Amino acid sequence: MRILVTGGAGFLGSHLCERLLGAGHEVICLDNLFTGRKANIAHLLDDHNFEFVRHDIVDGFKAEVDQIYNLACPASPVHYQFNPIKTVKTSVMGAINVLGLAKRVKARVLQASTSEVYGDPSVHPQEESYWGNVNPIGIRSCYDEGKRVAETLFFDYHRQHGIEIRVIRIFNTYGPRMHPKDGRVVSNFIVQALNNDPITIYGEGQQTRSFCYRDDLIEGMIRLMDNQIGYTGPCNIGNPGEFTIRELAEKVIALTGSKSKLVFEPLPSDDPKQRKPDITQARENLGWEPTVALEEGLKKTIAYFDDLLKSGGGDYPD
Ligand code: NAD
Ligand code: UDP
Repeated sequence: MRILVTGGAGFLGSHLCERLLGAGHEVICLDNLFTGRKANIAHLLDDHNFEFVRHDIVDGFKAEVDQIYNLACPASPVHYQFNPIKTVKTSVMGAINVLGLAKRVKARVLQASTSEVYGDPSVHPQEESYWGNVNPIGIRSCYDEGKRVAETLFFDYHRQHGIEIRVIRIFNTYGPRMHPKDGRVVSNFIVQALNNDPITIYGEGQQTRSFCYRDDLIEGMIRLMDNQIGYTGPCNIGNPGEFTIRELAEKVIALTGSKSKLVFEPLPSDDPKQRKPDITQARENLGWEPTVALEEGLKKTIAYFDDLLKSGGGDYPD
């Protein structure tokens, strides 16, 4: 198949491109390089089945493809809050553009949605039937509401035009190739620990997250896209292991043997207090469940950041 991956030069997108090429597909990677980097896909550029297009998904795009994975959107709160209006445009106009393309070329299209559609959840663990608790005017809403409208558009295109859609709700995912200044908790803590710098816990660190290793996530995403039973989702893909942020910090310190101390900084507004996926749907419809425990995934991620920092950090601009 010929497959378009928007956001293909990012953390998850570049791994997805790799997996799809490995399975023998042609891949067009479209990215504006806002948070993605050419270095993430440098090793793919010589593959004759791979093409990189520098383009902003807010503007329409034409390509003859069989499938579209729509991942274009900054994922870290630091990055999506940098230009919140642009974040909304990326999610909403990006969704309209990929859906329009899917309609024209009759492609199947997958939306990378997020556990953030549940906001600060009052139901725990979160199952797909839960409608969420999102502050529509808060600092996270550019991301949360953008992704919620994107889901709406996907289901409206499906109902109105019969477009084949898939919607994955991704829970916190981490792993090698994260940007050291990405700003998300796993990369922050590991880089701080390796440098023996203070570990910055926002709030008291009692909020929880469920961390999924990137290979498990990519496997679930491909299974959702390729399922032939017509299961559209929305489908939670995440690791149901739930940890407080303080527990995560302590694990990272133990695994790195770091001398870092914990420091406590203000909790950003609307920061969800708890998050854990119910993955019954993924188990039943896709036969999927995570295989990499947090400690094992952290060890691999620590090894990656350790190499990166020892080699001077690669081409990682601020
Ligand atoms: P990332 O920031 O590494 O990747 C996003 C990619 O999209 C980058 O390469 C960026 O340059 C590109 N991009 C951003 N705006 C664009 C635009 N307007 N036009 C074209 N390209 C654009 O983040 P990631 O972790 O790889 O996330 C990928 C997708 O998965 C995102 O849609 C994100 O919302 C979703 N997601 C990720 C997580 C996670 O924990 N990693 C959780 C929930 C959802
Ligand atoms: N967090 C933290 N210290 C950091 C970065 C994040 O305590 O240096 C907290 C953040 O407040 C949130 C959790 O870790 O409660 C996960 O944050 P992240 O940005 O990784 O993702 P989120 O799930 O909030 O989108």
